Amino acid sequence: MDYFSYRNGQLHAEDVALAAIAEAVGTPFYVYSAATLERHFRVFSDAFAGQPITLCFATKTNGNKAVLALLAGLGAGADVVSQGEMEHALAAGVPAGRIVFSGVAKTKAEMAAALEAGIFQINVESEPELEALSEVAQALGKTAPVALRINPDVAAATHDKIATGRKENKFGIDWTVAPAIFAKAAGLPGIAVKGVAVHIGSQILDLDPFRRAFERLRELVLALRADGIALERVDLGGGLGIPYHRDDPASPPPAEYAALARRIFGDLGVHLVAEPGRLIAGNAGMLVSRVVYRKQGETRTFLILDAGFNDLIRPAMYDAFHDILPVTAAAENAVLTPVDVVGPICESGDIFARQRPLPPIAAGDLVAFATAGAYGASMSSTYNGRPLVPEVMVSGDRFAVVRRRPSVAEMTALESVPPWLAKQA
Ligand SMILES: *Cc1c(COP(=O)(O)O)cnc(C)c1O
Repeated sequence: MDYFSYRNGQLHAEDVALAAIAEAVGTPFYVYSAATLERHFRVFSDAFAGQPITLCFATKTNGNKAVLALLAGLGAGADVVSQGEMEHALAAGVPAGRIVFSGVAKTKAEMAAALEAGIFQINVESEPELEALSEVAQALGKTAPVALRINPDVAAATHDKIATGRKENKFGIDWTVAPAIFAKAAGLPGIAVKGVAVHIGSQILDLDPFRRAFERLRELVLALRADGIALERVDLGGGLGIPYHRDDPASPPPAEYAALARRIFGDLGVHLVAEPGRLIAGNAGMLVSRVVYRKQGETRTFLILDAGFNDLIRPAMYDAFHDILPVTAAAENAVLTPVDVVGPICESGDIFARQRPLPPIAAGDLVAFATAGAYGASMSSTYNGRPLVPEVMVSGDRFAVVRRRPSVAEMTALESVPPWLAKQA
């Protein structure tokens, strides 16, 4: 469910025509619908109504300050994976008391920053990390509120690059050794053991892997309680998938996901944490691009866009499908012909879609990639000397540029030529 639709033959975000934004900011650009973000967050939080829970939006999905501020205003916290994300979330108005710090390689400097900021929870993923955190906390005269991230060794049907919950993945502490590490954590001076965490991967469209992971967590909580380690929090992670293709299964309804969590953890009296990312932001955003050329190859027709894989890497990185919509609706009787939709990057892998049946689209026309609000702008780069594209937020009939396009001078401002080369020049 989103707030992008055709009105009078023009694709709109809420009440704003995408063509009008293109006119104002140039292409390519990302556009986010505030109403869609709000709707998804509310559906998720309503599903957990009455349950003590901290909902931490996974910042790496879409870290735009306006997106974080909007969600923070609705009561969201943030799941962050670096000091940069943490500081950005704090600056966007996310209270420290609703921030969870995840990630496999937190440095001591990052740990110190998290402790100074007084965040809600640090999710620890290994024994050496636990020891380092205890040392840092002790040196600061603080106690770190910790959850141990467990690797439950469950396989989820998703792309290999975004599966994280199998024992051969780098994430988390093997569930088989978890009790020993918890016992160790309980004895470390700088550590306050608060809970257990899990995150089994992303774009998961079936509740069963969540069930298996949650059941393992429950067993662990009960076993630890029997050993005298009383956990008060369970962090469910993120990972709920969304449909990208019309033939994809629908997302598992958040209400069913919440019911599953309640069924498994309801009688334990724990405070839950959830870290949804894609589910909140995925279909709240589109990437809008202009066709530069329509090129007839010997065997294929190419639609060459002004957006490339540096702007939206999901197709190249994860073989992901994004619906490609003409911004001006095709005629009802338009004939679809297969085209390769490609970008301008000097790499053969800069392909958004192969042999995609599309209505007639000519040079100069605008197209929109649907479902690009998650892992879109946040994964973009300046490869090929291309400035990061603007991000725009729409709310009703208003729109605002929430990240402007930098100039080339701004892009290169951090570079310098060493004096010994400058002399030669
Ligand atoms: C990426 C990530 C998330 C968010 O995953 P989604 O699939 O976008 O919901 C949540 N928690 C952790 C620890 C993550 O790494």
